[in-house]
Amino acid sequence: MNPIDTPAQQPCTHCGECIRACPEDLNPEALFFALVQDNWSAARDQRLDACSECNACVEVCPSHIPLLDWFRWGKSETRVRARAAAARSRFLARSARLAREREARAARRRERPSPVAALPTQSISHAEVMAAIARGRVKRARATMSATSSGTPTPERTDKS
Ligand code: SF4
Ligand code: SF4
Repeated sequence: MNPIDTPAQQPCTHCGECIRACPEDLNPEALFFALVQDNWSAARDQRLDACSECNACVEVCPSHIPLLDWFRWGKSETRVRARAAAARSRFLARSARLAREREARAARRRERPSPVAALPTQSISHAEVMAAIARGRVKRARATMSATSSGTPTPERTDKS
């Protein structure tokens, strides 16, 4: 994608004028082609960040290539990409840490003795439960009778059985 539309622009003739004009000893022509080709590692190798944006290369370019616009766009794009890469690496590091913590919690759970295993294995039959309920009823009835005969107020019943 060409972000800059300059009607007067002509193709690069590889004249080398921009290279001779650059006070930072950069190769504006190579930088330009790196950005046009989306070759970000080449742009980095050509020290895009060292461009002082002096405009000297643009002034001498016979093809009127808006080199400085390209370099400014390239620098800003580099910053955006660096921020995205940093955010991606933070996200990956956080995901890895959460996965490690999940695994550690699961390992601790596996090592913990099961509370079910600690329960008594003896089971209570239905008949035993019913017998216990019946005993409870008899006990409550006796208590009520003895309280009534002695004139003591009986405790308020809370169960509906
Ligand atoms: S604008 Fe950048 S690349 Fe062009 S001459 Fe100046 S420092 Fe060199
Ligand atoms: S001055 Fe312009 S035409 Fe000449 S090499 Fe540099 S970019 Fe290409």
